[in-house]
Amino acid sequence: MESNGSILMLMKLVVLQYLAVVCVSQDFDFFYFVYILQWPGSYCDTKSSCCYPTSGKPAADFGIHGLWPNNNDGSYPSNCDSNNAFQPSLVSDLTSSLQRNWATLACPSGNGIQFWSHEWEKHGTCSESTLKQHDYFQTALNLKQRANILRALTNAGIAPNGNAYSLSSIKGAIKQGVGYTPYIECNVDSSGNSQLYQVYLCVDASASRFIECPVFPNAKCASQIQFPPF
Ligand code: AMP
Ligand code: AMP
Repeated sequence: MESNGSILMLMKLVVLQYLAVVCVSQDFDFFYFVYILQWPGSYCDTKSSCCYPTSGKPAADFGIHGLWPNNNDGSYPSNCDSNNAFQPSLVSDLTSSLQRNWATLACPSGNGIQFWSHEWEKHGTCSESTLKQHDYFQTALNLKQRANILRALTNAGIAPNGNAYSLSSIKGAIKQGVGYTPYIECNVDSSGNSQLYQVYLCVDASASRFIECPVFPNAKCASQIQFPPF
């Protein structure tokens, strides 16, 4: 009887421990990050257009869209912690760099806080065990130094001049310049032309280095895509 009781107790303990592990890992069960850079010219020349931020027209360079924790099958967790809202005061030392490198282009014109809040709350909270708010934004800014997409493209003769380039030459130029194969996302301009919109690179789960992407989303680019000016 006594040994039955202790077996039952042991089983309860095992179940509790299992539940604890499942609960913790559900929140933070991601395997790598996807880092998304965006060409502002392709955000702005669409039917829905754009609005420059209150700090002024951003530089003609790729801007950060986000740093997204991903699962190995390409799915991703989102909105993982409603108790950890974006707090501008935690990144006050980064504000001017964020304005330059992570510019909002949504209308009406904003100061960026809405865009950064959205990215932190939807994606950043799902990797908060690895990167707290300040580290999350600092890491995304640091990665941009190591992935100069515009330089990689212009070094290969691919410039934002409205010409069309082959998707494979764009991928090849970025692979050559950055060292890793990107996923290219296209959108369409107001005349319906397929164009270079966003570049996806993958980063390891500790957010310390680029890696080859485990999976790519379904592609929706034409084989020749435009690179519009900004
Ligand atoms: P996500 O929810 O992280 O997948 O990002 C998509 C959302 O970000 C959409 O609501 C977009 O309109 C918005 N978005 C993308 N780029 C920008 C940008 N440069 N400025 C403001 N919002 C943006
Ligand atoms: P492709 O360059 O189109 O022959 O595609 C070669 C590889 O890249 C395949 O594994 C595709 O799944 C992948 N792929 C296709 N389209 C894209 C894209 N737009 N960006 C990145 N990879 C892609």
